[in-house]
Amino acid sequence: MKILVAGGAGFIGSYLCEHYCGAGAEVICLDNLITGSRENIAILLEQKNFLFREADVSQPLPKLPSGINLIFNLASPASPVDYYRYPLETLRVGSSGTENLLELAREEGAAFVMASTSEVYGDPKVHPQKEDYWGNVNPNGPRSVYDESKRYAEAITAAYRRKYGLKTAISRIFNTYGPRLRPADGRVVSNFISQARAGAPVTVYGDGSQTRSLCYVSDLVAGLAQLAGKANAVDNLVVNLGNPREITILELAGMVISLCSSRSEIIFQPLPEDDPTRRCPDISQAKNVLGWEPLVSLEKGLKKTIEWFEKL
Ligand code: UDP
Repeated sequence: MKILVAGGAGFIGSYLCEHYCGAGAEVICLDNLITGSRENIAILLEQKNFLFREADVSQPLPKLPSGINLIFNLASPASPVDYYRYPLETLRVGSSGTENLLELAREEGAAFVMASTSEVYGDPKVHPQKEDYWGNVNPNGPRSVYDESKRYAEAITAAYRRKYGLKTAISRIFNTYGPRLRPADGRVVSNFISQARAGAPVTVYGDGSQTRSLCYVSDLVAGLAQLAGKANAVDNLVVNLGNPREITILELAGMVISLCSSRSEIIFQPLPEDDPTRRCPDISQAKNVLGWEPLVSLEKGLKKTIEWFEKL
């Protein structure tokens, strides 16, 4: 089995590479390292069945070994702070990058798994979000660079399936956390843990009543691998992957402060534009089709993440 992971040096991508290397597959990792890092794949770089190429997939792809069976496209900045900083790169990687990888999948006869996002639902008007909900996205707001590039990526993935009969699967990934989150990536878990550990004020944006549903990274990677396993057998798979336990951001702040045994106070800062009010996956499709559901509780996952931040 030969697998290509675009964005393989990123947070989720690096775990996915580890998963397949551990299962004995040959893994090719492409990453331009704008938000991914060599540290994430340090252990893998020493392994014979792992090949890393520093490459921007939105440009013509480098020459790669042939015989690829499966391609995952996780290449993209994914934290709001990152895609505000790299708006054009984000649009390009979701559009040209996805097309380049789909072309490669076509040439190689490989199955293609697109890492899409809960952001395709925008600020959802339906709750919890099911795969048949089309979303409520501002097409030109600050988040649109990510939301629309992922929506485009879904559209072109579906077009390759229809036009060329490519075997495809689309995962809509909800908020994911765990060790290897960059402390400065600006996401809620990274910020809260860094702040609470430093005894600094924990910054809740808005009044903290907005909700998120947080999935531990090992659960997410298991879901992605299970989804890939079905790409050849089930046509047109579109599946939410996330943890259905929904909590408010204010509750999360309190939880992180308590788990860090911190005395940090909570301060309130302005809510970013278009920040989704509620987000929670309906995962019945993942349960029924993949037999998947998350296993790691928020408390346990946060403890593991905090331990990792302590070792940094
Ligand atoms: N958030 C917050 N304080 C922070 C960082 C984020 O209150 O220091 C909020 C943010 O406004 C959003 C939620 O936490 O409502 C999740 O933000 P994140 O950037 O992790 O990802 P998103 O789900 O918005 O893509």
